[in-house]
Amino acid sequence: MPEGPGEGTAGSSAKRTTKKANSHDFVEGDCYAPAPENTDHVSLKRSYDLFIGGKWVRAPKKFETINPATEEVIAEVGEAGPKMVNRAVGAARDAYEKTWSKMPGRERGKYLYRLARLIQERSREFAVVETMDGGKPIRESRDIDLPLVAAHFFYYAGWADKLEYAFPGRKARPLGVAGQIIPWNFPLLMAAWKLAPALAAGNTVVLKPAETTPLTALLLAELIEEADFPPGVVNVITGAGRTGQNLVQHEGIDKVAFTGSTAVGKLIQKTLAGTGKRFTLELGGKAANIIFDDAPINQAVEGIVNGIFFNQGHVCCAGSRLFVQEGLVDTVVRKLKRRMESLVLGDPLDKNTDIGAINSPEQLTRIQGLVDSGREQGAKCWQSSQKIPGKGNWFKPTIFTDCAQSHRIVQEEVFGPVLAVQSFRTPEEALEKANNTPYGLSGGVWTDKGSKIFKITSQLRAGVLWANTFNKFDPSSPFGGYKESGMGREGGLHGLGAYVQLSGR
Ligand code: NAD
Repeated sequence: MPEGPGEGTAGSSAKRTTKKANSHDFVEGDCYAPAPENTDHVSLKRSYDLFIGGKWVRAPKKFETINPATEEVIAEVGEAGPKMVNRAVGAARDAYEKTWSKMPGRERGKYLYRLARLIQERSREFAVVETMDGGKPIRESRDIDLPLVAAHFFYYAGWADKLEYAFPGRKARPLGVAGQIIPWNFPLLMAAWKLAPALAAGNTVVLKPAETTPLTALLLAELIEEADFPPGVVNVITGAGRTGQNLVQHEGIDKVAFTGSTAVGKLIQKTLAGTGKRFTLELGGKAANIIFDDAPINQAVEGIVNGIFFNQGHVCCAGSRLFVQEGLVDTVVRKLKRRMESLVLGDPLDKNTDIGAINSPEQLTRIQGLVDSGREQGAKCWQSSQKIPGKGNWFKPTIFTDCAQSHRIVQEEVFGPVLAVQSFRTPEEALEKANNTPYGLSGGVWTDKGSKIFKITSQLRAGVLWANTFNKFDPSSPFGGYKESGMGREGGLHGLGAYVQLSGR
């Protein structure tokens, strides 16, 4: 049974409507006056085409993209079928052979620097669109997503003319045409992770954003046009899974870079087996956040909150499993609940908002299903008491205690604001439990002792590890997973290496 003030209603999705919502439709927080971000500076078209060969090409079919907080239709975008995918791959091949792979790295770098600066100039507008299309709080898209997007382009622009220093003694050649498929949780940031290293190394690209968050990739295509990139170097095609499938199967692709669910990653790996195409897969996660009894508790509680409630938990590396050393469990859970009560849930465009909207009704249903399974399997559910707006997709910050290793909420990726809490006695037990998952993307450890940090992090089977912090990102730092969290790395030199073939020694 649920306990505490948030008993009962957990999620909500009302029927879709195109009626314009205003900030009064959202529940106002107890402590802060509403501070909605201005949207006057955003000029979106009603309808978007596909960006192929440097031109906007009309797709025969269109679909709508919806604001998950207001249920308004924001715009319609093209659905790329096999013909359009073929056209985009052809344009990328032409650009690869005729211009981009032949261009000196110094010149490629100039285009990337120009793009990075244009992103900075338009970052306020892009942050608003990211929030409208995806549901994430403006505070996050403004202060985290957009600065990191620009930083990625700056970082890889710097490598474009220094490939011989990146891979000393080896000759680095581009791979050719990259097909890149990205998810909806960090739409523009994932586009930057994919495009920047590929282009710096001399590859051309066909990028497919997720169907629920296509807008910032299309705005980025407008910037690519403005930056005067040679036609076909970057092509942006919108559509759902079928479009992604057509791209993966296309014979003209030399490399597939995929970020998304483990289920689709496995399908892609099967499709590519034996084709000789290179691929990187950045998939799901179920990170362990481990708190020892010598940790700075208040700082750790902030780290737990950031770890699981950042971007409503729609984060592959979210700290969704919390392990607390026995003796400290009651204190941590009490402080955590108090902190959760202070989170502001509501209008993602409000600068006070901590918890925005769930990206889609489908994702809301998935979260609810896993939370139901947690209750049914005997874990204890507690939800904070924020009110949920009448329209849109919402889920309250939720924690489960009394969890068993076998519970679905402990083993499966929820991809929502749901935390499973477990206890441990010894470092060995923490490691045993933390590694007992099919995933291996990220993890965190909180302790006063440096030696303990090294002991734990060297034995945690995860690609990205944080100590006394969580969810920190930098373009120079590689990111990626083990086991069912994927293969290959993005970011840093490792990310550049994924887009070159090396010869000589
Ligand atoms: P998803 O796998 O459903 O979709 C991801 C993308 O793949 C979308 O663009 C989608 O249209 C496309 N797609 C769907 N079916 C396809 C197919 N058969 N062939 C080719 N493309 C196809 O994932 P999602 O729900 O959009 O994203 C959430 C998942 O992404 C979570 O599991 C999350 O952990 C993962 N993720 C991982 C990382 C990472 O770096 N490891 C980062 C962000 C998100």
